[in-house]
Amino acid sequence: MVDVDKCCMTQYPAGVLAKVAQPIGEVTDDIRRLADRMIDIMIETKGVGLAGPQAGVNLRIFVVSVDGTRQSAKVYINPQIKTDGPVVTSEEGCLSLPGIYAKVKRYKICTVTATDLDGNEFTEVGEELLGRAFQHEYDHLEGRLIKDRFNRVQMIAHKRHLRHLEEKFDSGE
Ligand SMILES: [Zn+2]
Repeated sequence: MVDVDKCCMTQYPAGVLAKVAQPIGEVTDDIRRLADRMIDIMIETKGVGLAGPQAGVNLRIFVVSVDGTRQSAKVYINPQIKTDGPVVTSEEGCLSLPGIYAKVKRYKICTVTATDLDGNEFTEVGEELLGRAFQHEYDHLEGRLIKDRFNRVQMIAHKRHLRHLEEKFDSGE
């Protein structure tokens, strides 16, 4: 059971963001409601993608809308990814790490195979921004944030900001 009303945007260092998310057994009305709520949160926070753990739910589901509109929003349940092509470095942000933007290396092409809200499997090839979004959101399901992909220099550069987020979290703000 998922308490959809309790779903809300989670930020670093919330524990759920560092956990490997659990597979979804069956696409129920609960899951459909969760997907709707996740799309709402993504649109409200002006994101292009949102993963289950970011909504406080430890489940393997993410939503993506590369242009940030509800019409383009798509749901990916139990996604599996296959990366291909050259590695491209580009700046990324994350709704769970507000204020942090950093160059992250990703594969140019990412094919995702997932289940949709009707319980049917589908495959989609993402290139450029869409491929990057798939890899970023998939990372969330593995408990990885962009900070976990930082090199030493980036870690030093963002250390203060990360500590600020930790202090804010501890004080319950
Ligand atoms: Zn993110």
